[in-house]
Amino acid sequence: MFRNGARYNSIGPWLSRYFGERTVKAAIDAGFTCPNRDGTRGWGGCTFCSGEGSGEYAGIVHTGLSEDGRMIIPVKEHADGSGEIAPPVQQISSQLEFISEKWSDPLCLAYFQNFTNTYAPVEQLRRLYYNALSHPKCVGLAIATRPDCIGPDVLELLREINAQTFLWIELGLQTSHPQTAERINRCCTLEEYDRCVSQLLESGIRVVTHLMFGLPGESREDMMNSVRYVCREEIFGIKIHLLNILKGTPMDRLYLNGEVPLPEREEYIQWAVDALELIPEDITIHRLTGDAPQGMLRAPLWAADKRYILNGINKELKKRGSIQGCRAAGIRNPR
Ligand code: SF4
Repeated sequence: MFRNGARYNSIGPWLSRYFGERTVKAAIDAGFTCPNRDGTRGWGGCTFCSGEGSGEYAGIVHTGLSEDGRMIIPVKEHADGSGEIAPPVQQISSQLEFISEKWSDPLCLAYFQNFTNTYAPVEQLRRLYYNALSHPKCVGLAIATRPDCIGPDVLELLREINAQTFLWIELGLQTSHPQTAERINRCCTLEEYDRCVSQLLESGIRVVTHLMFGLPGESREDMMNSVRYVCREEIFGIKIHLLNILKGTPMDRLYLNGEVPLPEREEYIQWAVDALELIPEDITIHRLTGDAPQGMLRAPLWAADKRYILNGINKELKKRGSIQGCRAAGIRNPR
């Protein structure tokens, strides 16, 4: 059992324990784009991703409490009416102000979330990252990106930052199955993911991997095999997203054509619990639901009730008498 009777290793409590006080994530929109949208690797993006780059490869930024009820994911903060995107340090101030009535004076991680947050010249990245770190309450960075967007110069910068402060890198994988990757137009290979993870781990940089459950054509066993695949390595965390159909995306068109069967809520809860049992207990859990922006969710509509899903996951863990990692033996690569 984890602290306070928890049955899995949720990142919210983990962060607060690590830093010794409440620590939230301030979502930063730094104005990046994505090589899977601008033609460098592909056009149109991953089929589930909205045009805002918020399809939870790099994450969905919206308002409210995160699923563990402790970390805050505030409203995406553009500037001041000018149409320009505010510098990270200013976005952090706005977001801490936004939550100040609820949480007084927390620490924060600057969460570079929208689109691909290492996809720019390294000097631009350096300015943005250090600008965020200049905020007095900012104790580290979380950077969401694609495995094919960390070249040698960016890796060197990440190493430099990692030597000075807290850092994790989030990598969108979604599935370990190449056929599914092709179907969702990921335009990034499993080999690129493996290479990137090795380089980051060898550099001592924490890795958080995103997986997505419910992708078309995948069975429960396919999803669990993706979990087993990513847990071979000593990654720091996992985000599991339920496929949310966002209006206007290519996935939405397939869904409206009847080509995307979606799970019922109880079925998804079973998948999530099966996955938790396979994930070694030291891996932090960053998400267990989807998080579609209000008004954009086409289906499944039950996905909007995150609290119900999380309660269901906890109840099912209790019913099975299981906890995270209880079936993880032998999953890790031998050292
Ligand atoms: S890599 Fe991320 S930002 Fe780019 S299309 Fe895919 S989900 Fe969207």
